[in-house]
Amino acid sequence: LWDQCTNLLKQDLTDSEFNTWIMPLQASEEEGRLRLFAPNRFVKDWVKQHYEKQIATLCLGVSEGRIEHVSFEIGALRKRQENDTHSVESRASEADPDSTLEKRRADACLNRTFNFDSFVEGKSNQIARAASIQIGQNPGTAYNPLFVYGGVGLGKTHLMHAIGNAIIEANREAHVIYVHSERFVSDMIRALQHNEIDKFKRLYRRVNVLLIDDVQFFAGKDRSQEEFFHTFNALFEAQQQIVLSSDRFPKEVSGLEERLRSRFGWGLTVAIEPPDLETRVAILNSKATMLQMDLPDDVAFFIAKRVRSNIRELEGALRRLAANSRFLGIPITVEFAKDALRDMLVAQDKQVSIENIQKAVAAHYKIRVSDLLSSSRSRSVARPRQVAMTLAKELTKHSLPEIGKAFGGRDHSTVIHAARKVTELRAGDTMIEEDYKILLRTLQN
Ligand code: ADP
Ligand code: MG
Repeated sequence: LWDQCTNLLKQDLTDSEFNTWIMPLQASEEEGRLRLFAPNRFVKDWVKQHYEKQIATLCLGVSEGRIEHVSFEIGALRKRQENDTHSVESRASEADPDSTLEKRRADACLNRTFNFDSFVEGKSNQIARAASIQIGQNPGTAYNPLFVYGGVGLGKTHLMHAIGNAIIEANREAHVIYVHSERFVSDMIRALQHNEIDKFKRLYRRVNVLLIDDVQFFAGKDRSQEEFFHTFNALFEAQQQIVLSSDRFPKEVSGLEERLRSRFGWGLTVAIEPPDLETRVAILNSKATMLQMDLPDDVAFFIAKRVRSNIRELEGALRRLAANSRFLGIPITVEFAKDALRDMLVAQDKQVSIENIQKAVAAHYKIRVSDLLSSSRSRSVARPRQVAMTLAKELTKHSLPEIGKAFGGRDHSTVIHAARKVTELRAGDTMIEEDYKILLRTLQN
């Protein structure tokens, strides 16, 4: 059964995706359940996150209902045979350049498909990309730390892996680790439980490049912050490269100790913003080539226009189209796309935009949208503007600089200030609290 599924998956995924994520899986079937074993947590999480639906649909289909459930676990089904292991190891120790590189990549937890070549440049990510390339070339000396922030699905993780990949490709000896903050936390807890905290410390303090993703997950985890603080200092003093990512500006990550927050801003802080239409089209075309699918221009344009929130969604739309068109044997047209992506498009349309917020707030306070964007500081305009900015921060996935820009080119600190002010006012002023609630209700329906 699993062999049949992998054959089908092979058609839907690129070779490198297939080899990296599907090949390492082992399967066992028992009483209506297919258990898939991944060699490590990284692979397991990745597969679950990216391919769970696809795998489940395929397996349920192929087994004609015999399998009702697919689970993902870490582990190996049976030990590989003694001889086998030997031959694998000896191959790795012969100086085969590719296999040492792949081993380094695996040790570093890097996904090879996330590289600079597969990263499409656009206005929204230009600076983040350029800074990342520089760090790939001069780790430890260009900027330290590099802090990349932006909304979900905009390419932060991709860039971090690309930095790591570039560094080990240039220097196999470089000791690189990519780790998600949640993983850092759980590994640390496990190390504490097993009295292995010294080992844990040594592991992180001897790296040349530490790529640590989504640091907002450190919020409120004091012991992990403490540990990470020392790791950070050790690496920083030794001029080893640190790259951090987060969904918001360093100063805005709440639940973080001040000493960490300020350190995060010591080097270079760059934003990734949602891609504009042209970039979305370029990304779709690039992904279509990787998926070996034929994507007509009008369809690429149609998807790019309708799916605006993030790149992960764009990719999801494309995969869905490819799978459906292959499955049904129907060529991809705009009509077909409309049909295949209907639910996704409805969800996209429901998302609140800054424009809608501005319209709703202007209508509520009986002023004009242009007043909100103007430089007027009069109370009757400034207060609604602050409310609108706060709503934009709460309800949309736009970054603070983007929100500032959408309000007549203000800067991100103005948005931060507005949000603080409104929170304060809502607590003390029932009128504002009432207005805010009404607006929330209007916008969310
Ligand atoms: P984030 O970490 O910001 O949530 P990811 O790095 O996981 O986002 O990106 C989500 C998906 O979008 C990934 O599959 C990634 O390869 C893709 N992606 C993001 N930005 C780009 C880009 N500029 N060019 C090509 N693919 C991109
Ligand atoms: Mg990410």
